[in-house]
Amino acid sequence: MANAMMIAYKACPRPFQTIGINLVETTSWALDRSRTTRRYLDQLKAVQSWSREELEKYQGTKLRQVVRYAYENVPFYRRLYDQERIDVEGIRTVEDLRRLPTITREDVRTNYDALQSRRRVRSKVQFTSGTTISPLKIRVSNDAIKLNRASSLLRDHWAGYNGERAARFVGDQAITDCADTSLYRRSFVMNRYIYSSKCISVQTSRRILDSLRRNRVRVLQCYPSAGYILAKFLERYDEHLPLKAVLYSSEPLHAFERELIEERFQCQAYGFYGQIEHAVTAAECEKGNYHLAMLDGILEVVNNGEWAEAGERGSTVVTSLANLAMPLIRYQLNDLTGYTGEDCCCGRRTPTIHPVESKADDLIITPSGRIVTPLAVTSLLKSARNVLEGQIVQGTIDSLTLRIVPLEDFSEEDEELLREMFTSTLGEDITIRVEKVSTIHGSAAGKKRRVINQISGDLFDRAFSEAEER
Ligand SMILES: [Zn+2]
Repeated sequence: MANAMMIAYKACPRPFQTIGINLVETTSWALDRSRTTRRYLDQLKAVQSWSREELEKYQGTKLRQVVRYAYENVPFYRRLYDQERIDVEGIRTVEDLRRLPTITREDVRTNYDALQSRRRVRSKVQFTSGTTISPLKIRVSNDAIKLNRASSLLRDHWAGYNGERAARFVGDQAITDCADTSLYRRSFVMNRYIYSSKCISVQTSRRILDSLRRNRVRVLQCYPSAGYILAKFLERYDEHLPLKAVLYSSEPLHAFERELIEERFQCQAYGFYGQIEHAVTAAECEKGNYHLAMLDGILEVVNNGEWAEAGERGSTVVTSLANLAMPLIRYQLNDLTGYTGEDCCCGRRTPTIHPVESKADDLIITPSGRIVTPLAVTSLLKSARNVLEGQIVQGTIDSLTLRIVPLEDFSEEDEELLREMFTSTLGEDITIRVEKVSTIHGSAAGKKRRVINQISGDLFDRAFSEAEER
């Protein structure tokens, strides 16, 4: 919400806030019911039975159109491809993508105008959110927005969610004051209760859990961190809250988080992978595999400039096939994932990818040059005693801060134990500091990153040079 709107919203009595929320929600309602979104959803369902050849042929044809379109209508690509002497007519298959140069975040930031299509395309401006990196402005066509939404509706469909009453715990600002007597606002339009993920705390947990029961909520729509904290409170109170499904997105869900969420809510958690750039999406099936949507974009997984083998992980490079407002062709998204290279036993034939761990820049680098994935360190937080949640921040090459939200029984011994666990995993050459906080701050959108690396520059280069110096 825009700032002025937010101020007006805050000043309103609760019934008016509810009216405001419902007005905003009509946009989501209309998006879900738009004919284009519905058509895309049908197409996404149909694609599940396509053969690999059919999928490749489809993507090849679309790619050819997009590359040509970009060359003819987008000044940035005209200049870039002329400079690199690219024959755009020669780009016909997914395989041919390799001949095109990749573009970076920085390219997008500095060439925002030159990346706009000169043709009129109905679109919206979106901003990426990050806790350590400044937001990036991207223009996304309405068409790409609808396809993206259809892809997440496909996930909902797989999860068996069909409009039952839901509770939403993402970055919404429906609740502006966590001391409010009501911790949610009701959206009649979308049949859900909107909570603020920022207001889940020791003080509010009892009331939130009770309200979920009282309101007969069947589905949770949440960031993994919010779902995990709620499950953690259920565990503390020794309670269960049976639901139909937990639908999450925006952050990776670590194994220990999934375990507790599925145990306490007695249902399966289904993830959706997408990004503000609206380039590629993937939906988690009931077998726990992420299937690529395939219609919206092409996902490349790259290791040292080469395509990674099936099963291998690497950084992502994405090409949107749907966004003609600001085409992104071979854009270095740099998420960490990889093709599994295996057929999913759910019977759907679209390729599956490993769960996206995190941004490649959220790795921990030790002075001896070790590169530790977020998963390896966040799993340590699971074993931490009397800790509600935590975040790992690497400020310098030889120091790490563990920001934790301690529960009331957290003792000095627990703290010592926590430090020891990290030292034994990461090595003696890195200093571990424990910082007790009352809350872990998310980004402006409320997303929480479990690992944040504040060392600037290319972490891999840095790690290697540090290791060589020693
Ligand atoms: Zn599957």
